Amino acid sequence: KGLLEFKNVTFSYPQEDITLNKFNLKIEPNKKIAIVGKSGSGKSTLFNLITRIFDPNEGKILLDNFDIKDLNEESLRQNISIIRQEPFIFNRSIIDNFKLINKSITLEEIRKYAKMAYLDDYIMSLPNNYNTILGEGGVNLSGGQKQRLSIARTLAKKSKIILFDEATSALDNESQEFIKKAINELVKDHTVVIIAHRLSTIIDADIIHVVDKGKIVASGKHKELLKTSKIYKNLYEQESLNS
Ligand code: ADP
Ligand code: MG
Repeated sequence: KGLLEFKNVTFSYPQEDITLNKFNLKIEPNKKIAIVGKSGSGKSTLFNLITRIFDPNEGKILLDNFDIKDLNEESLRQNISIIRQEPFIFNRSIIDNFKLINKSITLEEIRKYAKMAYLDDYIMSLPNNYNTILGEGGVNLSGGQKQRLSIARTLAKKSKIILFDEATSALDNESQEFIKKAINELVKDHTVVIIAHRLSTIIDADIIHVVDKGKIVASGKHKELLKTSKIYKNLYEQESLNS
């Protein structure tokens, strides 16, 4: 189903102070969920724990009520994908970029996912369409296009849980709009969590969690948080000033 739950999770990196302190959070599928907070507040650490790059010192992380420590690593890796600011693109054809993730995928399926990620029109405008070689010696995608490809590949991988880590922070407004639309599609049958640097991408989220010093200090929708959370209001005002 894709229900993720942090239960009293305490975590510190080796030889470091506590990063997460009795952290509790329930993340439901089919909703647009965002996590915001100052740099260093522990947001990316949440993803490091969900993907088991590190394990909590105390507490548990549950996926559909199973402790993720008891789940098969392969299935965990299959079902959870992270989309980062600089996605890795293979220096191969667009088709190969999908086949390396899903061997038996057909061109029809690839196009379906590329459409969902708002990338098909662009690919069809290239002389070699889906046979176009990417990267060195081929076509260089823009940052936004790379992310859309990364979203399409994640769809091809059929991961239930899709995590975005400040993925849109470096994008221009037009690319951001495309990514926003793609995310709104994904939300329909995935668990989607977005760590957002630019609040404009998550203003319409179903729920926004504000993290500070390793704890959730406020949760709600954009308009509520502007009234109830000073930290959120500050983050928002700082961003408005910067733009
Ligand atoms: P955010 O994503 O909110 O900016 P992080 O979760 O990356 O914050 O970091 C939280 C704290 O943990 C910071 O103090 C950071 O320096 C520290 N930290 C992050 N990753 C590591 C690591 N691999 N080793 C040691 N300390 C880390
Ligand atoms: Mg981070």
